[in-house]
Amino acid sequence: MTIKTLILGGTTEASALALAVQGDARFDPLLSYAGATRAPRPAPIPWRVGGFGGAAGLATFLRDGEFDALIDATHPFASQMKRHAVAAAQLTGIAFLAINRPAWTPQTGDNWAMVPNMQAACLAIGAEARRVLLTIGQKDLAAFRAAPQHAYLVRSVDPPAPESMPSNATSLPLRGPFRLEDELVLLTQNRIEVIVTKNSGGSATEPKLEAARRLGIRIVMVERPIPPDWQTTARDAGEALAWLHHLAATKRGA
Ligand code: NAP
Repeated sequence: MTIKTLILGGTTEASALALAVQGDARFDPLLSYAGATRAPRPAPIPWRVGGFGGAAGLATFLRDGEFDALIDATHPFASQMKRHAVAAAQLTGIAFLAINRPAWTPQTGDNWAMVPNMQAACLAIGAEARRVLLTIGQKDLAAFRAAPQHAYLVRSVDPPAPESMPSNATSLPLRGPFRLEDELVLLTQNRIEVIVTKNSGGSATEPKLEAARRLGIRIVMVERPIPPDWQTTARDAGEALAWLHHLAATKRGA
């Protein structure tokens, strides 16, 4: 019997999981993207784009599609989708796993200011005019309009809408992963003094932290929302795959 699995994606873990189950006859997977970026990466398994209409909509989607398993592999900052996934799992009783990617922690030589949100991040840059790299996506830029004294370089997958940008800002549309040597060049050439980033965790965007450490650049780190309570969790795609394999073995034995 095949395990029909919905993977809520938009992350490195979701892509790795898709690659791992692709062609495996035990699984019938579907990868779901929010549609947050203009051109999602084509997936190696069937995929769909767009919201479900809240937790109830997701529960209906799971029931109508006769899914056996749900994996939340969304980004640590996708807090609404995470809540909906847990609620839909409770509504349907489906086998459910949430991937909780570990957060980054400061190392020797780091100069981090930990802040709870974007408003606090803006304040933490300081009053003096600075050259700032914003790597926070494109939804939360408005907070930095409160500090027009800084010059911002905004790196995001798609260019942000011009009206959402701070006044003195340049867009740098780029999709990770990023290499350390490129990060060193970017920070040096643009004379960046402060980086503002979300504590996303993971390796795809981690080289900027190492580059900042080497160059003595200060980081304003926006702490992640606390994930909703759920017992069955994995730290990465490998653990999620092990969970899926176990589920397949259990179903076969049943
Ligand atoms: P969010 O605020 O938690 O979600 C907003 C709404 O978008 C959800 O309620 C849901 O709509 C829809 N949605 C989110 N993820 C979805 C998915 N994988 N498939 C189908 N619908 C989805 O999330 P967000 O911060 O906008 O993030 C959207 C997506 O981008 C996520 O998949 C996340 O993994 C990815 N991403 C986010 C960040 C970030 O920093 N937030 C960074 C990198 C990647 P309905 O209620 O209608 O179902």
